Amino acid sequence: MPLRVTFLGTAGAIPTTERNPSSVFVAREGDGLLFDAGEGTQRQMMRFGTGFAVSHLFVTHLHGDHVLGIPGLLQTMAFNDREEPLAIHTPHGTRRQLKGLVNALDNRPSFPVRINEIGAGDVAYRAEEYEIRAFETDHDTRSVGYALVEDDRKGRFDRERAEELGVPVGPEFSKLHAGESVELEDGTVVDPEQVVGDPRPGRTIVYTGDTRPAEATIEVADDPDLLIHDATFADDRAERAADTAHSTARQAAEIANRAGATRLALLHLSSRYAGRTDAHLEQAREVFAGAPADVFVPDDGQGVDIRYPDEGED
Ligand SMILES: [Zn+2]
Ligand SMILES: [Zn+2]
Repeated sequence: MPLRVTFLGTAGAIPTTERNPSSVFVAREGDGLLFDAGEGTQRQMMRFGTGFAVSHLFVTHLHGDHVLGIPGLLQTMAFNDREEPLAIHTPHGTRRQLKGLVNALDNRPSFPVRINEIGAGDVAYRAEEYEIRAFETDHDTRSVGYALVEDDRKGRFDRERAEELGVPVGPEFSKLHAGESVELEDGTVVDPEQVVGDPRPGRTIVYTGDTRPAEATIEVADDPDLLIHDATFADDRAERAADTAHSTARQAAEIANRAGATRLALLHLSSRYAGRTDAHLEQAREVFAGAPADVFVPDDGQGVDIRYPDEGED
């Protein structure tokens, strides 16, 4: 089951010619999930081919660089004769402001837009095989981060063992894999535990939005496959990071270690660095426990496929 992250906007508060303001698109099976929508997000969706089939938009906070793309995106969706409802999840206490953005223009959306206020610790959206959890972040306004956490998958079915036990090839295999016991012709009962391995973990993506280093980032999910973390500044402006409620690349790497993250994407780099990423990368790699290549500063449009931890064994 493909799970793909496309970085639509990787800039800090002020866009640059190379980088658009914050937005991350996640495609999982037929689901399009958008995390933040800075100004120009719709053009980035066109440029990088994600399509507009977004069912849920998750807003981390109401700073302009994370939400100014919403009115334009909704207008284009309406021009495209969209009828499907759109759910927008946003931190507690921001509904009125968000409603203002949605209804700012004369041509209001022709499709239903549902605004869902959420708090840290809430499940913003429960899908069939995964959920989106909101967690507490530490910014200078009402804010949350989001984690996409897939359910455990069924354990591996040991076909050889099943045949040894005398289970006939056919529907009994599926029953056992689904967790039901099966009675054989001679009256022997075979239980699923005899032929099905332990459940296997699903995949996890954690997106902080703007924040100082925050404990909840570590607690929201075990060993995320990808942590997308605020890294607005490098060490030279560590004080400014604390003052403005952002993180340094080094702090992002420390959080990644404590969370057990496999990969770390550094986002929201200040325009002060004028496109230079070497200091961020070097300082994060000094502390990151994983492979140096697994820390990166994505370019706009860059995509990452998230694989199952045990992929390749199948
Ligand atoms: Zn921002
Ligand atoms: Zn902000």
